[in-house]
Amino acid sequence: MILYIVATPIGNLADITLRALDTLRKVDIIACEDTRHSQILLKKYEIEKKLLSYHAHSGQSKVEKLIAALKDGQEVALISDAGTPGISDPAYSLIKAALNEGIKIEPIPGPSAFLTAIVASGLPMNQFTYLGFIPTKKGRQTLLKSLAEEKRTVVFYESPHRIQKTLSQLEEFTGGERRIVIGRELTKIHEEFIRGTVTEVKEGFAERKPKGEFVVVLGGKGVV
Ligand code: SAM
Repeated sequence: MILYIVATPIGNLADITLRALDTLRKVDIIACEDTRHSQILLKKYEIEKKLLSYHAHSGQSKVEKLIAALKDGQEVALISDAGTPGISDPAYSLIKAALNEGIKIEPIPGPSAFLTAIVASGLPMNQFTYLGFIPTKKGRQTLLKSLAEEKRTVVFYESPHRIQKTLSQLEEFTGGERRIVIGRELTKIHEEFIRGTVTEVKEGFAERKPKGEFVVVLGGKGVV
């Protein structure tokens, strides 16, 4: 009875570990968010497996089905559409339920967008705060205001259609002089790091429409 938590690429399909591939080849079931999306990766590595969907809206019945399969002696690998399951992706309720049933969890580490961005950001990374996706409505202002006093580097995910609003709010609440780095389309053909102050980066986006996937890395208070 093992539930493997397997990290998969965040863009470049070559970013998968040998152990991840061995695991995906040996398990009985692969639980994934979007079966069509995961098939692209699995097809590239000639892995044919039974796929079961497990996504943010799956509910308790999917968890129970996977737990039943595990208790029946089957090995299950959980993957997400990109990166590490559980990092702003579904995994938590399945892991919790598995542990409650005495099922062993084996993580197979690999890519995650926030780590990929932070290591190339040039901002301090000895300590940082990961915020996942910041709230879009309730709690958003309070959170952004709290960043004004944050001395650690802060990293979070943002969608292309909200990035300009976020930059404007950061300018308002934390000041336009704070260092910021946007990691865009990481590991993909159009990978880019946009560096500057909050105001500079905001003005850059006013001239070209933001496109793709984004990680925001905000320098702490006092970082130059
Ligand atoms: N589990 C993933 C991880 O480990 O990073 C995160 C999944 S979360 C649903 C998706 C968000 O991660 C995207 O909206 C984007 O903010 C960020 N992301 C994922 N892949 C990325 C990439 N290649 N470049 C930049 N950001 C990425």
